Amino acid sequence: MKLAVVAVAALLLAAGVASADEFDFFYLVQQWPGSFCDTQAGCCFPDTGKPAAEFGIHGLWPNYAKCRPAAAVAGDDDDVVVEMVVDGGAAVERHHQRRRQKCWPEYCNDGNKLRPWEIKDLVAELDANWPTLSCKSGKSFEFWSYEWKKHGTCSGMGQHGYFAAALELKKRHDLAAVLAGAGIVPSDDESYSLGSIRDAIAAATGAVPNLECNRDAAGETQLFQVYQCVDRSGKKLVDCQLPMQGKCRDKVKLPTF
Ligand code: AMP
Repeated sequence: MKLAVVAVAALLLAAGVASADEFDFFYLVQQWPGSFCDTQAGCCFPDTGKPAAEFGIHGLWPNYAKCRPAAAVAGDDDDVVVEMVVDGGAAVERHHQRRRQKCWPEYCNDGNKLRPWEIKDLVAELDANWPTLSCKSGKSFEFWSYEWKKHGTCSGMGQHGYFAAALELKKRHDLAAVLAGAGIVPSDDESYSLGSIRDAIAAATGAVPNLECNRDAAGETQLFQVYQCVDRSGKKLVDCQLPMQGKCRDKVKLPTF
């Protein structure tokens, strides 16, 4: 019996199946649709029509408090980097290893596909709060399936529980209303200090978020996504501790949508 358990564990490790209980906290990632759509790549509206001018869910992502070498995570090898260097006039190949880092678990069970009937009662709410803006397909279900496969399968939650948890968290604070309360309203001319955005969200939610920016088609920096940190229960907001590497500047835009 013991031998069988060890054998199954070894098989899972060999298959690269990450364990769901490894992560430390979640990011609830919400996105400003105006900043997704006004980039060079643009966007497309879902079959259900133009989403409301509100933050939309991107995902609920299990995350590690500390990044770890990828080799310590099953199934991931370091990259071998091959470099051509000129040595004494002749081009020679130089090989070296680059340690890859893993900062979150992902794709914990590819066999566990999102089944429409599991989330049937949530579809209307998901359509309104978690719309696709991708031009690959107008079907938000494909976006939800992708997020479930990549992140949800590592959450330790069931399919219904995962989507219900994200919706519940989003419902607690209307980020667009929080920002509007601090005088930060969508505008194609105005810029806002990043600190004032962070402070407004921290004051309203009781937890410091991380902010991610991107660039519009003209290269201007704008608020793109708000990362709220959530404890492992998937219910309690906590301060985000990890700094984010992003394209933010001191002053950012919040474009109209
Ligand atoms: P992730 O892999 O979970 O970090 O999500 C990144 C992927 O999600 C990228 O391929 C994005 O283009 C895609 N994505 C981000 N926002 C949206 C959205 N609103 N609708 C559809 N796809 C999105």
